[in-house]
Parts: sequence; C-alpha cells; structure tokens
Amino acid sequence: MDFDPSWLLIGLPIAFVLGWVASRFDLRQLRMENRQAPKAYFRGLNFLLNEQQDQAIDAFIEAVQNDPDTQELHFALGNLFRRRGEYQRAVRVHEHLLGRGDLSRADRDRAQHALAQDFLRAGLLDRAEAALQKLEGTRYENEARLSLLAIYERSREWTQAASVAQKLDESEQASYSTRRAHHLCEQAAEQVAAGDLNAAARMLEEAVALAPQAPRPAIDTANLQLRNGDSAAAYNTLAALAEQAPLALPLYAAALQQAAVASHRAGEALALLQRRYAESPSIDVLEAVIALGGMPISPEAESADAGIAAPTATPRDGYITHLAHQPSLVAASRWLAGETFAREQFHPQVQRALDQASRPLMRYRCAACGFEAHQYFWHCPGCQAWDSYPPRRVEEL
Ligand SMILES: [Zn+2]
Repeated sequence: MDFDPSWLLIGLPIAFVLGWVASRFDLRQLRMENRQAPKAYFRGLNFLLNEQQDQAIDAFIEAVQNDPDTQELHFALGNLFRRRGEYQRAVRVHEHLLGRGDLSRADRDRAQHALAQDFLRAGLLDRAEAALQKLEGTRYENEARLSLLAIYERSREWTQAASVAQKLDESEQASYSTRRAHHLCEQAAEQVAAGDLNAAARMLEEAVALAPQAPRPAIDTANLQLRNGDSAAAYNTLAALAEQAPLALPLYAAALQQAAVASHRAGEALALLQRRYAESPSIDVLEAVIALGGMPISPEAESADAGIAAPTATPRDGYITHLAHQPSLVAASRWLAGETFAREQFHPQVQRALDQASRPLMRYRCAACGFEAHQYFWHCPGCQAWDSYPPRRVEEL
C-alpha cells in the first residue's frame, strides 16, 4: 500500500490539537484540586488573623483532609499553640493527626512525641506518662525515657524511676549508675520507714556496688548500721569513706564521731578528723573534733595556735582556732555560748541574737538553683538536680 503524504498534512494538526486538549484538561484538573486546598488554608489564615483560633483549627483540619500532604502545616500549628501556652489546642491538633489512618510511621511517631510534649508542658503528668510510654521503640525513645525519668523522680516514684534509669543505662549512651544508686537509696529509705531493715540493707548494698565512689550509699549504709546497733561496722564504713570521699566529710563527721565513741575507737577517729580538718577546715568537722575532746590542728598549727594550746585550753577553744583562720559567725556564736560573761545576766539576749543571725549561715545551698535549706538534699526539691548541694554550709561557700 502506498503512503499518501496528504494524510500527514491532515493527521499532524489533529494530533497536535488532541495533545493540546489533553494537556489543557490535565492542567484544569490540577488547578481545580489546588484551588480547593488553598481555599481552606486561606479561610484558616483569615480566622487566625481574626483571632478566631477554634475556627482556624477547623479550617486547617479540613485542609488536611482534602490534601494528605499538609501534615507539616499541622505540626507547625501544633507547635505554635504549644509555644503560646495554648496546650488544649496543641493537643487537639496532634490528636487529630494521630487519628488519621494515612499517616506514615515516622509522622505518627512525630505526632505522638509532639502530643507528649503538649502534656508535659501543660503539667498533665499522668497523660504525659502514657504518651511517652508509647514512644518506646521509636527514634524518640531515649528522649522519652529521660522525660519519664524526670516525671517519676519529681513524683518520687522510685521503683519506676529505677526501672527507666536501668533501661537508659543499658542503652549505653551515658552512665546512669550514680543516679541509679540514688534511686536505690531512696527506696531503701522507704523500706526503713516501713520497718523492713533487711530489705533496706540489701538495696544499699546494691547501691554501693553500683556507685562505689559516691558518698551517699556509704553514708546511708553507716546510718542503717548505727540504727541496727552495729557501731563498729558503721565506723569502718565511714572511715573507709573518709579516704575515698574526703570532700563529703562534713556530711558524715557527726555520724563518724558517734560510731567511733560507741565502738571505742575515739582516738583513731580523732586523728582522722584532725588530719582532714588540717587539709580542709569546716565547721562540721570541727564540731566532731571538739565532741571527741580534741583540738583542731590547723595547717599552721605550730605558729598560730601555740598560744591557744596552753595548759588551760579546753576543746571548746577549738572554735577560737577556727576563728583564727575563718571569720565564722557560727563558730563565734558556739564559742560564746559556753563562756561566762562578766555581766552574765545579759548573756541570753546576746546569745539569742547571735544564734538567730548565724542560723541562716548553717543552711546548705543548691549550686544549680540557689535553693537553701537546713537539711542536706541529694535531690534538690527546687530544681530536681542530683548532687547539686556542696557538702558545706552557706557560711563556708
Ligand atoms: Zn536546685
């Protein structure tokens, strides 16, 4: 069959027209789809600008339903609400995202994480806990565990805190052994309060094994040993700790002195305390030395204290030795309390004023947040930090 070139003349324009029509149809279709989605956006935007945020959310939700690729808008909106403190709205946005069936696994995890953040920021800790637990096995797992740990520690749920800390420790991104030892000490304290001293002893043993360098497990162990009447064991525990953690000595100097007296090792304890006092003078170690009937030995003992170590000196004059190096109102007040004034009738008034002035100086202060308390805290009630209190009183900082 011969090819007629005139067909080419007719066929080509037809093919061209058909192609053009097809392309126009596609474009129109696309424009129609695109036009529907922006309409909802603009409506939402309009509501937002008019501060009608509920309606704005509804409009944005509609936009998402029309176009499955707009979850970014929702994440942005949810985060915006959270930052503004509008947690209810942030929760609504993220819950809507989670309710969608067509969300990818990564976006679902992201929405779950965002929802947990909403609850955390809103202070709804039980709901935050549930949301965070759902993040196990996702890429937010580690962050979620840290938040869970903070929740359990804040609410003093030590068993749960211990279990999360163990998981974090096993993930080997950082060491949590000291923190886990703290959890065990807290659990042991609960057992002591409940009267189960054996369970407490087992927990403290575990704590010592976990963090042998930390002072708290040893101090708590010694206190439990003293409570059980085993002063010799308590003395050994604290004497060993004095070698290992001398900086924390002010915290356990009184317990050490008590255990030494009860186990007839006062001389040994006095030598130990005097040696540590000479290295680093502090009011707590000084008091333990005085309670043992000794005199503090300061670094320049030979020169400065020669006059005080006179035959008439009493252990209480140790406060004067201390004052020679540190202008301590606490030490001055303690010394004056045992002195006799020429006009003794005025002593109580003066003493009361001094005691009152020196009482705040005997507090401990958190180095992280500045919270002050007469009690020493391993876990700051102000900022929830661990080991943030120096073992020295405010006056000595
Ligand atoms: Zn603090």
